[in-house]
Amino acid sequence: MKIHEYQAKEIFHNAGISTPQSIVAETPEEAEKAAIKIGKPVVIKSQVLVGGRGKAGGIKFAQNPEMAYQLTEKLLGTQIRGETVQKVMVEAMLDIHDEIYMSVAVDRSARKPLIMASMAGGVDIEEVARQTPEKIVKYHLDPLDQFLPYQAREIARKMGVNSKLISSVGGIIWKLHQIFQNYDANIVEINPLVLTSDGLVAADAKLDIDDDSLYRHQDLAQLQTEPRDEFAYVKLDGNIAVIGNGAGLTLTGMDMLKLYGGKPATFLDIGGGASQDNIARALNLVISNPNVKVVFLNVLGGITRADDVANGVITVLKGSEREVPLVIRLTGTNEQEGQRILKAAGISYETSMGAAAKKAVEICNSLE
Ligand code: GDP
Ligand code: MG
Repeated sequence: MKIHEYQAKEIFHNAGISTPQSIVAETPEEAEKAAIKIGKPVVIKSQVLVGGRGKAGGIKFAQNPEMAYQLTEKLLGTQIRGETVQKVMVEAMLDIHDEIYMSVAVDRSARKPLIMASMAGGVDIEEVARQTPEKIVKYHLDPLDQFLPYQAREIARKMGVNSKLISSVGGIIWKLHQIFQNYDANIVEINPLVLTSDGLVAADAKLDIDDDSLYRHQDLAQLQTEPRDEFAYVKLDGNIAVIGNGAGLTLTGMDMLKLYGGKPATFLDIGGGASQDNIARALNLVISNPNVKVVFLNVLGGITRADDVANGVITVLKGSEREVPLVIRLTGTNEQEGQRILKAAGISYETSMGAAAKKAVEICNSLE
């Protein structure tokens, strides 16, 4: 789960990392008041859950409170990379000498946390990573070992930080890692950490928390605005939606479909023990995709019960606006009951995955 910059900055501030004075505003009037209170030029920052706001026009500079009013009026309601701006953060403008990049993230391929840091921070960090990767220090951590302050200073030294600043930059890297650990983060990032005449200040803050750890962070779980999907969903460019219970089964369903010449429009794993509601939601989700011509529902009941699946299917077929042919493979736990429910509703089913995949492809081909 991503959280907003202003929420992340509060966490960073509490962890001892300096952040600029800031006030959140939801109206131009509030922004003007905030600018008056801050009493110097301010930056108006769109609070949206996407990166690259600066380049997309989501960060504006206001020399005075009237400008803060006008710029906020312009930003509110606009879309920044597909996200509507509902709040802005009014923040004291910094006098920037240097922009530093630092992050701690899970490096899945190395199965370790990875710290990345560079003196070439700022909005062009992706460009730096592509063109001059040697400017970014990469440091893997042993997940079973403590990360110690001297290691953080070692990273600062490798970055080429001015010797006077090694201990303060190292200190911030160390604190950032503490946040990474304490919040079970996928990634924590400061870009840029700016060197001002008053020292080092985090001008931006990013924190993305592993959804599976939210039960340990009740305070943050409450910030979640959208209901969490219990299933894993990937949209693909084909025309047959593949739904399965379990990632392996869903992938196998996709392979089968390919074998018979079909093209998957989705990978949708409803997970183990999916409820009737969950199955209905999954079906509605794929049916709402206009590219989907046929749905291939591939369920082998384990914890998931075939009768729940059958009832979920019936709910959707009753209420659906768009008629999409549905091919169901249903076996496993409570299969007799599930099959009886489908039969009673006049819905056909298969018991073999191969037969169902083949049928889905045949129906799809006959529609073209
Ligand atoms: P992002 O584009 O979503 O990463 O948003 P940032 O908060 O990182 O802002 C983008 C860029 O705006 C930064 O890299 C800075 O160059 C600039 N910026 C942000 N805050 C300030 C500020 O207080 N003063 C000045 N001069 N520039 C700022
Ligand atoms: Mg940034």
